[in-house]
Amino acid sequence: MQKLIVANWKMNPISAKEAFSLAKKIDAGIPKKKNIEVVIAPPFPYLECIKYQVSSIKLGAQDVFWEDKGAYTGEVSPTMLKNLGAEYVIVGHSERRRLLNETDEMVNKKVQASMKAGLKVILCVGEPKRATRDMRQGIKEAKSFVKRQLQRDLKGISKSHVANPMSLIVAYEPIWAISAGGAGKPDKPEDAAEMIRFIKQFLTTHYSLLATPVLYGGSVNSSNVRNFLQYEEVDGALVGSASLKHQEFKKIIAAVSSVAYY
Ligand code: PEP
Repeated sequence: MQKLIVANWKMNPISAKEAFSLAKKIDAGIPKKKNIEVVIAPPFPYLECIKYQVSSIKLGAQDVFWEDKGAYTGEVSPTMLKNLGAEYVIVGHSERRRLLNETDEMVNKKVQASMKAGLKVILCVGEPKRATRDMRQGIKEAKSFVKRQLQRDLKGISKSHVANPMSLIVAYEPIWAISAGGAGKPDKPEDAAEMIRFIKQFLTTHYSLLATPVLYGGSVNSSNVRNFLQYEEVDGALVGSASLKHQEFKKIIAAVSSVAYY
């Protein structure tokens, strides 16, 4: 399976000019090998114009609303995103859950609407903190937190909704490991791999989803990305701040491409 690298630019950069320039530089550095897919999720206003600047990068949005059109001031629908050229959409990012009180019920509606519109959903899950005194206990608690999130966020989703394995992607992002707002220290690769194995097992057992890609996110950079991707079960990375520095992001892409098969 291809490895997936998703750049979440969050509310950056400040101008369209900078966004186009960054996208073009990243696009130019994508290796010709087809063993990776690189997705950039810029702020909404840059989506359509970036589409015309790049040839290898796929586009994603950072959020979506669950209705297709109507009186929903400020919202953007799944069909609008598709029409703008987005193939992917990030749903349930912890910053939206925390800062905008996005609930699992809202996340679930977004997942369903996006899938219906044919967008590939990148569903973010992850526990807010992990006990440090007893790591095994911390991981046990993290598993039950993530399990609860998946049960709520994927309510009503069955194998029949997942048209192809890429229709649903899960990003395991322990909130405490995210560079902004967290402690800024990545998870231990072996713990992240254990969590990802657990997520895959849960999706297989409860949703018959045997091939859902699961990414790791949280303070990924060019020095540590290989440590995560060396685990076969880690299907890629969701990258925040490091994706805004094009040299650094290019190094991440090269590192992932070097560990990915075929
Ligand atoms: C994120 O917020 O999705 C993220 C992965 O951020 P960072 O890489 O900056 O920790």
